[in-house]
Amino acid sequence: MRNVVLKKEMKFPNAKVFRAALREYAIKKPIDIKFKLNERTKISVRCKNECGWRCYASQISGELTFQIKTLTVDCTCPKSFKNSQATSAYVAKRFIEDFSKNPNWEVTGVHNHVMQNLSVDLRVN
Ligand SMILES: [Zn+2]
Repeated sequence: MRNVVLKKEMKFPNAKVFRAALREYAIKKPIDIKFKLNERTKISVRCKNECGWRCYASQISGELTFQIKTLTVDCTCPKSFKNSQATSAYVAKRFIEDFSKNPNWEVTGVHNHVMQNLSVDLRVN
């Protein structure tokens, strides 16, 4: 699920898929998201820095399908290179292939590789 795009009216098969897409989107942008509502039938997130960015999606009644109801324009916060969504578990999972292909990588090499791919500075976490 790379380069995920979120649009208003967009549908997802279920809440789990929507959450995964949202997480990927937030990392890519990056937007430091905060869940305001995280329920079985509705999910609402906003930018942690209160710039006004928000996304709201809810379940279509009678279906598992999730649909984005509200999505504001991009987060306007300056890129701080800090993103709480980029957990070490996520990074490990995403780059495990690269790691295994390059068993001799030094820590700095891995760090630079992650930086280039995610624009996230792992040192702040
Ligand atoms: Zn923001």
